[in-house]
Amino acid sequence: MKENKKGILIVISGFSGAGKGTLVKELLRRHEKDYVLSVSMTTRAPRPGEREGVEYFFTDREHFEETIAHDGLIEYASYCGNYYGTPRVYVEEQLARGRNVILEIEIQGALKIKERFPESLLIFVTPPNAEELKRRLEGRGTESEEAIANRLARAAEESRGVEFYDYLVVNDKLEESAEEVHHLVAAARRAPVRREEFVKEIREELHSFAKGAQK
Ligand code: 5GP
Repeated sequence: MKENKKGILIVISGFSGAGKGTLVKELLRRHEKDYVLSVSMTTRAPRPGEREGVEYFFTDREHFEETIAHDGLIEYASYCGNYYGTPRVYVEEQLARGRNVILEIEIQGALKIKERFPESLLIFVTPPNAEELKRRLEGRGTESEEAIANRLARAAEESRGVEFYDYLVVNDKLEESAEEVHHLVAAARRAPVRREEFVKEIREELHSFAKGAQK
């Protein structure tokens, strides 16, 4: 039986402060072999403690726009005044090697991915309620009041796009949410659209049996 060798592209989005970064880290910690995380390029300034090539590839607008022009990104978007984008080469290489690739990106980028890669899996992560989201954003202590207000306004806008996602995960208990995502991915890999090789093989065999029986 031919298993699907190609990995799947998993998009994880959520309101800023929904805890999606922590959830993705937990998923990678628990299932290190099954996933890789794509590191995005951004024009945003690094936050204290963020490292080049780990959280992001930090760059300026000029270089970002050059990368767009050279088709070096599979998607990009502007978010709160900065560019963010997904470098192409790493994602394509890892998928070909059979790894499931996680993109932690916002909604405009997620929709572009769905358009270009219809077999991708889109998961939206949300806190249990809006009050909790505000509390988490304020508790992070890395952003100004203005930036927090901006992110809350953006969350209100993004809440309109949730229906475009395949699944919604309420991030209440970290370990449970990470396992929930892992199970969703396992189920998604079973869908016929992601098992083309298997479907093709069994179809061809059945057709040849059917021809044989007619003789
Ligand atoms: P932050 O500034 O908090 O790190 O990220 C802001 C938003 O940009 C988050 O929703 C994050 O998921 C999103 N983001 C990060 N990387 C990318 C990317 O490569 N493409 C897109 N479209 N969004 C991204």
